[in-house]
Amino acid sequence: MPTVKKMDENAGLRDRCICARCPSYDDCTRKGKELLYCIEGKSSCKLERYGCVCGVCPVEKMKGFTGGYFCIGGKASR
Ligand code: SF4
Ligand code: SF4
Repeated sequence: MPTVKKMDENAGLRDRCICARCPSYDDCTRKGKELLYCIEGKSSCKLERYGCVCGVCPVEKMKGFTGGYFCIGGKASR
């Protein structure tokens, strides 16, 4: 169960996630308002790899994550 502090922090990070501008982000993820896969885990949609913009995302930099396609592969590991 995430703490309230953690949920607040994630809400702030969701605003900075740039997944919605990614070519792999589709109608299904848009409908589900999915974001922040690197922290919240993979998508419930069946996605194709059309590119990933995680490499230029401020959240990835801030958290020290590397890699991408977290929507398919799940949470980032450090
Ligand atoms: S690293 Fe990728 S999944 Fe994580 S917040 Fe940024 S764009 Fe979203
Ligand atoms: S995790 Fe990467 S590939 Fe998936 S939607 Fe976000 S930016 Fe695109």
